[in-house]
Amino acid sequence: MDNKSLCGKRYLIYGAGASGKACKRFIKKMGGKAYLFSDDDGRFCPPPDREYALAVISPGIRPSHPIYEYCARRAIKTVGEAEFGLNHYDGEYIAVTGTNGKTTTTGLIAGMTGGTACGNFGYPITAALCDNAPRPLVCELSSFQLRGATVSPSVAVITNITADHLDYHGSEDDYYKSKCNIVSGMKSGYLVLGENIPPRALKFLKTDVGIVRCSVDKIVDGAYLDGGYFWFCGSRVCPRDYLHLQGSHNVENALLAIAAAKCAGVSNTAILDALLKAKPAAHRIADIGVFCGKRWIDDSKSTNVSSCRAAVDTVGGSVCLIVGGRGKGFEFDGLFDGLDERVEVIAMGESALEIRDAAIRAGRVVTVVGTLGEAVAVAAETKSDTVLLSPACASFDEFTDYADRGNKFRAYVERMGKIGKARIK
Ligand code: ADP
Repeated sequence: MDNKSLCGKRYLIYGAGASGKACKRFIKKMGGKAYLFSDDDGRFCPPPDREYALAVISPGIRPSHPIYEYCARRAIKTVGEAEFGLNHYDGEYIAVTGTNGKTTTTGLIAGMTGGTACGNFGYPITAALCDNAPRPLVCELSSFQLRGATVSPSVAVITNITADHLDYHGSEDDYYKSKCNIVSGMKSGYLVLGENIPPRALKFLKTDVGIVRCSVDKIVDGAYLDGGYFWFCGSRVCPRDYLHLQGSHNVENALLAIAAAKCAGVSNTAILDALLKAKPAAHRIADIGVFCGKRWIDDSKSTNVSSCRAAVDTVGGSVCLIVGGRGKGFEFDGLFDGLDERVEVIAMGESALEIRDAAIRAGRVVTVVGTLGEAVAVAAETKSDTVLLSPACASFDEFTDYADRGNKFRAYVERMGKIGKARIK
C-alpha cells in the first residue's frame, strides 16, 4: 500500500454513512487529514473553503448532487469511496457487479477463496483495508460505485444486466456503461460473464482480457452444469446437489462464483466446501413460516422486475405476489409478460397504479392497496398456497431500506398469526 501518498494531505469526504465514516478512518490511519461533510436534513451544506487534495464521495450521493459542482468550481478532483480504497490497495482483488446476484455471488467467491467480501456487500472497502481483512478482497461493486471509475481487478464478474436504477443514472446507456467500467483498468486477468447480458450493454465492454462464460444449459468455455455436476472447462468440479441455495438463479450465481474461483486458482475441495456451507443472505427468498394456512416468503431484497420474476419461478404452487414501492424509472410490463395464472398480484405503495396499468395492458387484474400492512391483510384472505413479498421496487416510500421492509413484513405476518385474523393496521 502506498502509505506516503496520503501523508499530511487534506481530504474532503462527502456523505456520512458507513462508506464516508470508514473512509475517514482509513485516511487518518494512513496519515492524511479527513474532513467529513454531509447534507443537513436533505439539504446541501457547502463545506468551508480549504485546499483539498481530493474529494471522496460516498456511493449514495447522486451524480446531480451540488457537491460535484462545488468541487468542479474549485478544481477539486472527485473519486468514489470504492475506487479510492482500491487505488490504495496493493493486493489482487476480485470484483463483482451486475443487476442481480451480486451479494450472493460475492459471498460465494469469498467463501471459496477464503478472502473478504466487501464493498457494496455492506462492508466498505476502506473499512476492510483499515482492518487488514483477509485477502483476497472480493469487492461487490454497484453501478453507483463504478460510475466514472477506473478499477483493475484480477478477475471481474458481471452476473447479468437488466434495466435498473434509471432514476439515478438518467439513461439505460449510462447504467450499462457504469457496469462495464468493471474492466476499465484491467490489463490482464479474466472477465466472467453471466448469460443474461443484453447486446446493448455488451457494446460498452472494451477489454482484451480473457472472457470466461457461464451457462446452466450449454457446454461453454467456462463454468456449466451437465449431468448433475458443476464443470469448469471440461473438468468436473463437484455435484450440483452440494448447493443448497434455492432456485435456478442461484445455480447461475454458483456457476459465476465457480468460474471466478477457478480463474483465481482455487481448488475443487475449497469450492465444494464453500458451496456446502452457503446459506441464503437475509431477505432473499427467506421462508418466514406457515401462518393462516399459507407459507410466507420474504424476498424484500428484490428491487427490480428480473429479481421478482426469479423469485416467482423459484416458488411452486399458487402464489400471491406482493409487489410495489418506490419505482426506479423502469417499466413494469415485464412483471406480467408470460406470468403464470397461478400467480395473483397485490400492488402496493407509490408505484401501485403504474403496476396496475401494466397489468391492464397485459390483460391481468391486480388488487391495489396503500401499504404493506394492508397487502398482508388482503393476502391472508386469498386462496394462494404461498404469499411472496418480492416488491420489484425500492422501499423508501414506506421504509428506511429493504431490511426494514422485510422485518416489518415478518412482524405483520407473525402478529397476524397470533391474532388468527388479518387485522393489520
Ligand atoms: P444484488 O446484490 O445484486 O442485489 P442479491 O444476491 O442480494 O443480489 O439478490 C437480490 C435479489 O435478486 C434477491 O431477491 C434474489 O432472489 C434475486 N437474485 C439473486 N441472484 C439472481 C440472479 N442471478 N438472477 C435474477 N435474480 C437474482
